[in-house]
Amino acid sequence: MFPPLVLVMIATVVGVTAFATRYTYTFSIARTEDDLRARTQLIAAQLAGPLAKGDEAALRRLCRVLSQEGEARVTVIMPDGRVVADSMADPERMENHAHRPEVAAALAGRVGVASRLSKTVAREMFYLALPAPRPVTGSGPPGVAGVVRLSIPMTPVARILADIWRRIVLGALVVVILAVLVTLLVSRRISRPLEEMQRVAERFGQHDFKRKIAMSGREMSREVAGLAEALNRMAQDLNERMETVTSQKNELEAVFSSMVEAVLVIDAEERIERLNEAALKLLGVQAQRGIGRPMVETVRHAELMKFVREMTRSETPAAKEIVFGDGAGQRHFQASGAPLVDSQGRRGGALVVLNDVTRLRRLETIRREFVANVSHELKTPITAIKGFVETICDGAAGRPEDVERFLGIILKQANRLHAIVDDLLALSRIERDEEQKEIELQVAPLKPSLQNCLDSAAMRAKEKEIAITLNCPPELTLSMNPRLMEQAVTNLLVNAIKYSPAGGEVQVKAGRGAGGEVLIQVRDVGCGIASEHLPRLFERFYRSDKARSRKLGGTGLGLAIVKHIVQAHGGTVGVESELGRGSVFTISLPG
Ligand code: ADP
Repeated sequence: MFPPLVLVMIATVVGVTAFATRYTYTFSIARTEDDLRARTQLIAAQLAGPLAKGDEAALRRLCRVLSQEGEARVTVIMPDGRVVADSMADPERMENHAHRPEVAAALAGRVGVASRLSKTVAREMFYLALPAPRPVTGSGPPGVAGVVRLSIPMTPVARILADIWRRIVLGALVVVILAVLVTLLVSRRISRPLEEMQRVAERFGQHDFKRKIAMSGREMSREVAGLAEALNRMAQDLNERMETVTSQKNELEAVFSSMVEAVLVIDAEERIERLNEAALKLLGVQAQRGIGRPMVETVRHAELMKFVREMTRSETPAAKEIVFGDGAGQRHFQASGAPLVDSQGRRGGALVVLNDVTRLRRLETIRREFVANVSHELKTPITAIKGFVETICDGAAGRPEDVERFLGIILKQANRLHAIVDDLLALSRIERDEEQKEIELQVAPLKPSLQNCLDSAAMRAKEKEIAITLNCPPELTLSMNPRLMEQAVTNLLVNAIKYSPAGGEVQVKAGRGAGGEVLIQVRDVGCGIASEHLPRLFERFYRSDKARSRKLGGTGLGLAIVKHIVQAHGGTVGVESELGRGSVFTISLPG
């Protein structure tokens, strides 16, 4: 803004200077003319007499006198242009003046004014000529007896004018310099903060709100200071908003990426817009290769593709169960989808969330199987009891030996029912206590508990002439619930006896493992278990040898009870077995 201001200023000052010089010139000329005219009139009046008489000698004398009084050169010219008297030169030598412009004007009856270089005195002169009127009785051309001309050198006038002009120009120069300085200061006070503001505003554009416009009120004008303050306030405001937005975005981002559910965002062109970590893992894609690419290239799952596509075209949210993988690695997902609609109501693709429900489905299957198993287990003895009771009712009562046999079978089946229900109740109690953390643990020596187990199994062992040995350091203690632990070990011991041939041997061993854990082992040399059954052996009602188990009065729940008791103690139970060579069940408990 500085150059145009300076230009305007210089133009103004030059204009004013030109006007002033012009005015002083015309003013001084006019004053000189007025003054000269007054003097000429006075002198012309005094010369009128001799002029009328044609007394040239008198005219010359008077001319010299009046020239001194009037401080001007006085010339008298006759109507024919002949110079008759001149205060500064010899009229004889002077040429005819009829055609001098001022003389010609005066001869025509006007006031003649001119300025030029005088040939006579060789100086720049200012001339004023007046006609001297002829007396009414005189001779000569009518009206004009001659011309009286006064002339003064232009030099003093010019000198005065030059002096005035010099002062004007000097003044103008001073004014210009001062004005330029003031303009410079003012424009700097405006433009410097503006430049600073521009720099800072550019930083704001790059989201850098730390730099503020740091200029004092003295460095800028009030309006600009107000603007700077408003900008600073705006920056602070924007900064706060940006921080809020960023932190909210980060929070959302964190939630999005740490979600267990797989989330897919598809745009209207069926390109993948976003995938969270879980989705990347599930679909087996890398972020940089998946995002922004068409869904068909990334999602290699026809059912999911179909569902997502439906969602991009659908009006309402929907859900569907989708299965990934097959066999043992099969995973079930509950896919919930919703079309994405922007604030203007335009369709923008779809959002699909995949929730892993594999565990849920597995639990449902387990529950279904359990109910079926329980029903099946209960049905066999109930059917048997019912059948024999009906047989008795139908007339077997007359055959006491049959009735006795049937009642024996009924009792056996009732005992079986009782055992199953007892085991089921025990299992559910343990599960419930385990869930509610109501199992009371106490630090107790292990050996007496194991001895109790041996005692309760002694009868059965004796029946099959099986020798049980116990090997446990007496000082070994353990945080446990003795009643439950005894039940678990007894179950293992009873199984070992049950599945051992008569006269076999069962060992119960306890001690500390390498990691400080307490290990309880029940080893038999019985029938053993085929390896394919081992993974599912601890499931409810799972039997490796159904016929043998039933025959031996097993419920199929013994090992499930063991597993839950051990779990309630924070431990694990495992089995190693070889068909025909015996089995080793190991309970491992934290020491
Ligand atoms: P059950 O009441 O039928 O014995 P369990 O849950 O105690 O039920 O055992 C499950 C199955 O594991 C049994 O049916 C049996 O086939 C097998 N099993 C358990 N312990 C032994 C063992 N010591 N030797 C051989 N097989 C065993």
